[in-house]
Amino acid sequence: MSGYDGSEPLSGVFAPRTAKPLERLGLLTVGDLLRHFPRRYETYGELTPIAQLPLGHVSLVADVITAEFIRGTSPGAARPGVRRRPDMLKVVVTDGTDRLDMMFFNAGYIRGKIRPGARMLFSGTLGEYKGHRRLTHPKWQELAAGESAQEVADRPVPVYPASKDLTQKAIRSAVATVLDHLGDTPDPIPAALRARRDFPPIVPAFEAAHRPGTPEEGRKALARFRFEEAFVLQAALARRRRDAVRAAATPRRDRDDGLRAAFDDRLRFTLTAGQRAVGEQLGAELAGEHPMHRLLQGEVGSGKTVVAVRAMLTVVDSGGQAALLAPTEVLAAQHHRSITELLGELAEGDLLSGGRGTRVVLLTGSMSTAARREALLHAASGEAGIVIGTHALLQEQVSFADLGLVVVDEQHRFGVEQRDLLRGKARTAPHLLVMTATPIPRTVAMTVFGDLEVSTLAELPAGRPEITTHVVALAEQPQWYDRVWRRVREEVDRGHQVFVVCPRIGDDAATDSAGPDDDGLLFALAGEAGEAEEDTRPPIGVLETVEELRGRPELAGLRIETLHGRMPADERESVMRGVTTGAVHVLVATTVIEVGVDVPNATVMVVLDADRFGISQLHQLRGRVGRGSAPGLCLLVTRAAPGTPQRGRLNAVAATTDGFELARADLDQRREGDVLGAAQHGATSLRLLRVLRDEKLIAEARQEAADLVAADPDLTGHPDLARAIEDLLGPDREAYLDRG
Ligand code: ADP
Ligand code: MG
Repeated sequence: MSGYDGSEPLSGVFAPRTAKPLERLGLLTVGDLLRHFPRRYETYGELTPIAQLPLGHVSLVADVITAEFIRGTSPGAARPGVRRRPDMLKVVVTDGTDRLDMMFFNAGYIRGKIRPGARMLFSGTLGEYKGHRRLTHPKWQELAAGESAQEVADRPVPVYPASKDLTQKAIRSAVATVLDHLGDTPDPIPAALRARRDFPPIVPAFEAAHRPGTPEEGRKALARFRFEEAFVLQAALARRRRDAVRAAATPRRDRDDGLRAAFDDRLRFTLTAGQRAVGEQLGAELAGEHPMHRLLQGEVGSGKTVVAVRAMLTVVDSGGQAALLAPTEVLAAQHHRSITELLGELAEGDLLSGGRGTRVVLLTGSMSTAARREALLHAASGEAGIVIGTHALLQEQVSFADLGLVVVDEQHRFGVEQRDLLRGKARTAPHLLVMTATPIPRTVAMTVFGDLEVSTLAELPAGRPEITTHVVALAEQPQWYDRVWRRVREEVDRGHQVFVVCPRIGDDAATDSAGPDDDGLLFALAGEAGEAEEDTRPPIGVLETVEELRGRPELAGLRIETLHGRMPADERESVMRGVTTGAVHVLVATTVIEVGVDVPNATVMVVLDADRFGISQLHQLRGRVGRGSAPGLCLLVTRAAPGTPQRGRLNAVAATTDGFELARADLDQRREGDVLGAAQHGATSLRLLRVLRDEKLIAEARQEAADLVAADPDLTGHPDLARAIEDLLGPDREAYLDRG
């Protein structure tokens, strides 16, 4: 046998007792295990003779004299009111200067491993028990015959991400097994690049990462793998970019006698300079021979939709169609409404506008069969120039006569694969415009959106009213709760509308929280809201809140409605219509209204249990008000105690309306996986890379990857890299491994 190359399933290497818990950590192959890197390294450090041990942290080497196992009371024997005594292992050691007692609790698994006569290293916190010095639950390690204790004590011990059913020792031993039998392992970093950056080859690097001679050596090895991770990801993205650039697209030239021009003439406002500039950029790229791939980021309310509509009309003017993909039904329906309205007579089809208009159709999962069939027909015949929908648009039955542009709103809800599905419905590669209101730091853009060019709408349209944000801290000021509703009443009396957002629906169906939205696309609530710490109260729900508000004297006579993902589509639609027309005064909702909902007459946003939301979400929610001419007010109601991280988040949101600043604060607080979003392939597998911390490294890896892909586009000279990319992006790794 020539040794492992990394592709071997762990189930073939280890007994299920070891393989299963490793698999639960997501480690399926030998390569996965080798890339399960230590979080840090520990050493036993300086060894002290027992006679001189101070209280506190100590390390020592000693011989075991006795190891006595004392069985605890069995659970069955425990009487009410009497605490169960755990199994214990009582150990006495000596190093010739003195003896020392040690105690291990619940330590059945150590029994037999610490035995009389063994020479061992121990490290832990020395305390006193009934007047005697005692070491409780020290770390321990047996020394082999002739091994120098101090040498072993100085050797770094890797500390791994572990789990309940897999101890550090078990991981170390599993890693040692594969390291000891490691053969020729593919190295995604080409030798020349390795030499240039002074990186070791992969096998010694694995050895150094897991069994370093010094912590420094370990850290150097980890740096190599961190670079490798960035490099493979960037090479994958570079290839996507290259494929995209190579693909042919149908040029969609703008004309000044078409719908786009007529639309501009109809606009009630003048475009901002940013909207014009981005519009020109898009116009130029749409007219090109290769597909546009562009990310448009802009604050909530910066007017991205208008930019997108103009691009879509340019495509329609040249005989093509455009599809707008929205993350939720609410948002798709709203886009349909507002775009139809923006277009006015231009959306009335050829009939009324003398051949100048185009049809705008909506296609969502919950539409009636008849309505669906009609929409499908209009898309397929080309009669609909603009097709708006949820991910129902991705389904197989959906076809287009000539799909020229795909617009994806709020990209972070969609994965790369979904984008590709829609692109696949076009005859030639369609142009792609992705829009997001969550400002994306440069490195995240490079990592997750690395195959897109980025445009930014930096300014808001002039004359936008102010939005004031207050944290309503019920822990200190419970009486403010009533004032919130009095304030809501005042606002309604002035003719405005109010949103109240709750973290969950509250009908206790399934695994609630704010829940999968209507289309089953998860809002990133769970990961974001994070550590609710001691707060064990269930979050406030929409249903209980609407009950309460309808009964409040302050709100008597108002029309208060709910909106959430488990309402039937027609009910949701009629509620949203009521909100648009102003008939509904107060809308109590989940985060279904987080994204894109545009009701200019809404002026107050009340977020209940606001601490359950992440910074970006709160910023999005706040962006739902102050969109008309009247100033907006956002009240973040919380029961969280002062000084907690939750309150810190709320204060951050209240302190600024600068989305970029908040996005940064948000990223600092969230775990990497949350930042990148579960749907982003490649990103989910980042192990060592931290997109914020490693900005420089990512930029360098990106350059190296771009150079390499330019020189060897098909990676024929770099099979190891090609394989690593495949591993990263491969669709169904687990299924593949099962088959193998
Ligand atoms: P975004 O999608 O970027 O959050 P929208 O495109 O929904 O923003 O625009 C927010 C609101 O501002 C809409 O009501 C839109 O009609 C309006 N709007 C867009 N551009 C302008 C502009 N240049 N001047 C005034 N209002 C604008
Ligand atoms: Mg929008």
